[in-house]
Amino acid sequence: MPLPWGLCLVNRMCRSWAGPARKTTPPLLGCCARRLTLSTQKRTSDLNSFVVRTNTCGELRSSHLGQEVTLCGWIQYRRQSLFLVLRDFHGLIQVVIPQDESAASVKKLLCEAPLESVVQVTGTVISRPPGQENPKMPTGEIEIEVKTAELLNSCKKLPFEIKDFMKKTEALRMKYRYLDLRGSQMQYNLRLRSQMVMKMREYLCNLHGFVDIETPTLFKKTPGGAKEFVVPSREPGKFYSLPQSPQQFKQLLMVAGFDRYFQIARCYRDEGSKPERQPEFTQVDIEMSFIDQTGIQKLIEGLLQYSWPKDKNPLTIPFPSMTYTEALDIYGTDKPDTRFGMKIVDVSDIFRNTAIEFLQDVLKEPQGTIKTICIPGGAKYLQSKDFEAIKKFAVSNFNQEVSPLFLKTSESRKSPLTKLLKEEEKSALVSLMKAQEEDVLLLTAGEYKKVCSLLGKLRLECADLLEARGVVLRDPAVFHFLWVVEFPLFLPKEEDPTELESAHHPFTAPHPSDIHLLYTEPEKVRSQHYDLVLNGSEIGGGSIRIHNAEQQQYVLETVLKEDVKLLSHLLQALDFGAPPHGGIALGLDRLVCLVTGAPSIRDVIAFPKSFRGHDLMSNAPDYVSSEDIEPYHIQVKRPEVTDRKDIKSVICETESSQQLVLPSRAKT
Ligand code: ASP
Repeated sequence: MPLPWGLCLVNRMCRSWAGPARKTTPPLLGCCARRLTLSTQKRTSDLNSFVVRTNTCGELRSSHLGQEVTLCGWIQYRRQSLFLVLRDFHGLIQVVIPQDESAASVKKLLCEAPLESVVQVTGTVISRPPGQENPKMPTGEIEIEVKTAELLNSCKKLPFEIKDFMKKTEALRMKYRYLDLRGSQMQYNLRLRSQMVMKMREYLCNLHGFVDIETPTLFKKTPGGAKEFVVPSREPGKFYSLPQSPQQFKQLLMVAGFDRYFQIARCYRDEGSKPERQPEFTQVDIEMSFIDQTGIQKLIEGLLQYSWPKDKNPLTIPFPSMTYTEALDIYGTDKPDTRFGMKIVDVSDIFRNTAIEFLQDVLKEPQGTIKTICIPGGAKYLQSKDFEAIKKFAVSNFNQEVSPLFLKTSESRKSPLTKLLKEEEKSALVSLMKAQEEDVLLLTAGEYKKVCSLLGKLRLECADLLEARGVVLRDPAVFHFLWVVEFPLFLPKEEDPTELESAHHPFTAPHPSDIHLLYTEPEKVRSQHYDLVLNGSEIGGGSIRIHNAEQQQYVLETVLKEDVKLLSHLLQALDFGAPPHGGIALGLDRLVCLVTGAPSIRDVIAFPKSFRGHDLMSNAPDYVSSEDIEPYHIQVKRPEVTDRKDIKSVICETESSQQLVLPSRAKT
């Protein structure tokens, strides 16, 4: 603890004998306490109903002076046997430890209870002596003069202190998650999440007549999409699958006449170790009948505006919209971060008559293109090693050369391409890119999609680099929502580009003006699929669905080469009077992560899994005995060494995950 606070307490100790004390304010307590309070909760909820306390630690003010109160909380600090700071989820309050002989037992209890023990105190709200107030602490004008105290539970030595400023590895936080959650930041994140969900329910059910319906977690394998977890059953050879989303069920509910469905749905995807993914995650899942794309977009804009936290800048709707083709062309990705410029610009025309051979060759190819991005102040903020890293990244990830062009040329920074450029090519580039002297252009030539994706990645990498050097590009208080629309219905499969897979999922309807192409050139069909992007992250996606059984069967069987038997129940349902319908799912974890500004989605999930899908607290997944497996008719190949992980190996697990997470924008 910083010295001033200690001094303050010593002075407080002396004040009754030595006159007024020095004014000191412990800044830390103020910020912790401030973050704990969520605006709406205070106004609308009775936080003290049914329990033994009369008040929360965070709610007392000068207006409570003279009141007899009972508080329960954890001991956060103790100073010189004179003061305790008691903490609950709502804030911190200072408690004066009685010094009189008559209160010796209370003093002993409060002085001896280890930090983080749980105590109940009863006493009177008194004002702090003049000059001793702490304006940074919401309860800083008052303190509690204790009369009685009870130790509700003592705390053993903790693996880390419950203070937000204490640095701890993520693995340790996960191992002792229940302690990590005691911190004010995690309390804030999860309480804000709960409030947003409550507002969403209110908006959907109370204002718009949606029905909240739960759908099964034990289901069967579905074609396409992410890999599913399988669950053994007692019938030999038969398995359930955990649903990757309630997609089929919500469509079946439309057939059933529940024409406005929603669910806060737990979904499961066995995607292995991917940064910023969780094997189990939560969606705000929505489906409606008799709706078009615009209707769904309006609903979601209203939903987000209604549930948006009061302590953030209000949202402006409608959100802007961009086609998939534009997004790829200008930002090199289908989830553009539109908070800053550095857009991709096609400069092919400047080089139509170039003498530079490799550029000529590229432009002769059917998909050949030359594109650039402009790094503002790149010459000033980025170093040679940064440009080396950029070039290496391009080669190793895209097998593609990228050339930095310095506009203010010092000999040492001239790239080979700069030397080859004709003066008129250079000035055409400068004027097209509106480049300033200190800017650097990154130029690359090649196949259209590759060039766009590479520059899209470099745009984000360079933004990170510039920000790391102090340039402000993205204001953390700003939220840029964007609809991305008109996706292709199918994309070539990564592993075999001659085959097609759904860009969204196989139930997505073709764009009405492209239906004829479905049967002739399916790769050219646009879809009625829309994604919602926030600050460069996809936070939702959905589509208008195929409600015609024949068309659905054609897509599954002929275009996607899926086994239609697996979906016979859905195909049959579509034939029994299925209304036209569509929907969307918002990724709740990612949304809350962005809203709170948390560094990871794990920071907005109470009990998340590690990068490798482990629960580091309970050690799940874990071995089960042969007897437990017996009913499932499966054979398990057990590894030879079955010793449990100790905390050291656990720490290695998340640390190595962090190494992957940090530089991996390219991989997400
Ligand atoms: N079920 C879809 C998904 O999880 C969302 C939707 O189309 O409604 O991505």
